[in-house]
Amino acid sequence: MSTGEVTDAGSAADASAVRYENASKRYPGSDALAVDGLSLTVPAGEICVLVGPSGCGKTTAMRLVNRTVELTSGDVLVGERSVRDIEPAHLRREIGYVIQEVGLFPHRTIAQNIGTVPQLLGWDRRRVAARIAELLDLIGLDPALGDRYPGQLSGGQQQRVGVARALAADPSVMLMDEPFGAIDPISRERLQNEFLRLQAEVKKTVLFVTHDIDEAIKMGDRIAIMRVGGHVAQFATPAELLMSPADEFVEDFVGADRALKRLALLRVSDIDLWEAPLAHVGQASAEVRAKLDGAEVPYPLLVDGERRPIGWLSHRDLDSEYVPAQPDSPLGPVLEGDDIMRDALADLLQGQSQYAAVIDSRGRIAGVLSIEIISDFLGSPAAEMDEHSATERPRSAEGASEVSRDGERE
Ligand code: ADP
Ligand code: MG
Repeated sequence: MSTGEVTDAGSAADASAVRYENASKRYPGSDALAVDGLSLTVPAGEICVLVGPSGCGKTTAMRLVNRTVELTSGDVLVGERSVRDIEPAHLRREIGYVIQEVGLFPHRTIAQNIGTVPQLLGWDRRRVAARIAELLDLIGLDPALGDRYPGQLSGGQQQRVGVARALAADPSVMLMDEPFGAIDPISRERLQNEFLRLQAEVKKTVLFVTHDIDEAIKMGDRIAIMRVGGHVAQFATPAELLMSPADEFVEDFVGADRALKRLALLRVSDIDLWEAPLAHVGQASAEVRAKLDGAEVPYPLLVDGERRPIGWLSHRDLDSEYVPAQPDSPLGPVLEGDDIMRDALADLLQGQSQYAAVIDSRGRIAGVLSIEIISDFLGSPAAEMDEHSATERPRSAEGASEVSRDGERE
């Protein structure tokens, strides 16, 4: 993924705050307000997630911003301007909009789809083509796919194109209504990660609607938990929501497994890992046995000449005089520092493994994560105090490029 040009085009200076001021919406023929006096400020350059049960007014609240739903009373400001003072057609070009159903034009190619708004804005052909190429790169799609039609792409690829199309004219605000809701769980997680990586570069103001609290915790810099009528039950960072839910509604919505959810706020590199005694093929077993006394991990890890892990040695492996080339136990789960702790725990559980080797970007052993470390962490004051979502912080450059390559594989 190239970063230079895109970063320029999407610097934080382009993002506008969005401010709801006592905004209300009553649909014709309805007694109740779909959104009732919503006041909320979304700071520029942040992802704000609106989350809540179906019918609580999330979509309505979001659509007040681009005037695909008109205010009944109150106001919505984009930057310093009231949306009431901006032509709806202009707003819709100015504000990126991504919906669950994607809404790509089926008879236009991927490139034409992405270039829709720039073309409407009268950009010259070369500038449009350059922007399309830049966006295909940004979302990790093969440029050759530009000539295909939406029906020839997977759901995940189409959704990426939807995101690219919304970003095309470098909008100041992005509205995303359950954008990954119709995608299978594996592709969905990948799209979420990709979008977070993208957002770290483009730093748009993003209003993101979901009914899934886990997605909200993962994606949001801030989360507004809504109840029926567009009432905000709590507006807070993910960590605040998990540590101190404002009331029973929020507590119920956040769920009973708050401790586990805290793990979604952390990366493996945030935690003190254990050290395993290392062993090399052909090394005298006695030397390795000597290292086991008082070691944090009671099994030696067999590594190659570059300190890349090969497998775990059992005590039986150490019965022979020299360390064998083939360890008794396979390596099991392998993690990286950038992995989200909740995924790491899932890997440990799935691998039925007590320990997981954590490697650096060059595959060398960096430490060992254990179930016990995680369980100690959950019980510690540090777990209560962690203020920053893992996804808030940019990944290391190396980690990011690995994710990007992964994304291209679909
Ligand atoms: P959510 O996105 O949280 O599921 P919506 O904003 O779609 O909620 O809907 C909020 C309320 O407004 C619901 O009671 C819904 O039935 C009603 N509503 C939504 N759209 C319309 C519409 N076009 N006409 C009448 N009522 C609507
Ligand atoms: Mg909705």
